[in-house]
Amino acid sequence: MIQPSLKDNITKLTQRVRLTVEMCGRTQDRITLLAVSKTRPASELRAAFEYGIDQFGENYLSEALEKMADLQDLPLTWHFIGPIQSNKTRAIAGHFAWVQSVDREKIARRLAEQRPADLPPLNVCIQVNISAEASKSGASPRDLPALAQCISELPALRLRGLMAIPARSDDPAQRRAVFAELHSLYRELRAVHPSVDTLSMGMSGDFAEAIAEGATLLRIGSALFGPRNG
Ligand SMILES: *Cc1c(COP(=O)(O)O)cnc(C)c1O
Repeated sequence: MIQPSLKDNITKLTQRVRLTVEMCGRTQDRITLLAVSKTRPASELRAAFEYGIDQFGENYLSEALEKMADLQDLPLTWHFIGPIQSNKTRAIAGHFAWVQSVDREKIARRLAEQRPADLPPLNVCIQVNISAEASKSGASPRDLPALAQCISELPALRLRGLMAIPARSDDPAQRRAVFAELHSLYRELRAVHPSVDTLSMGMSGDFAEAIAEGATLLRIGSALFGPRNG
């Protein structure tokens, strides 16, 4: 069933993003809204497209491939945002325009080797484990320069920026501090690699702080589609 509230959610979210952007003195056209559609049926993505959303983020490969097949009549841009196992790189390289969760050289090299020659370079964000959580994927900040250099030398990949999922915090000031840290890593990366233009941070619960600290791409799931069941 399509959530009757989807249209409302999209309108409300777009308004809140616009307002936050204005309050921070930023221009809205620099912020991309990525709809995180994991666990959501293709019919809901199709409805979201009718309301103006054309970029979707998926975490699970086989689920994503099914939805892509269902929605191939639509001009959508697909981002892979989940953990990447080596045996999944070929399908990811073949079907996605973006991968935001690259966190090690081995995966970068495999994606580059397996990117079909008739497709444009695969847009890549490096996932940073900004809160140094042992359980989370992501490169540690000190490994960023070497990994970025490796990616920038692979012609089948295009280094676009950084993605992070900070540890949960109930304190907005703490959330902002982590986003500020990410922004400074992003600026350092940009100074070395001119192709870098994307700072992917901010989800349903913390996008306002992310915008205030310079996010260029928000990854929003539940605020659009409602709470997930699993
Ligand atoms: C699920 C997910 C999101 C969206 O989370 P919400 O809190 O539902 O907005 C964003 N980024 C990643 C990497 C995710 O896995």
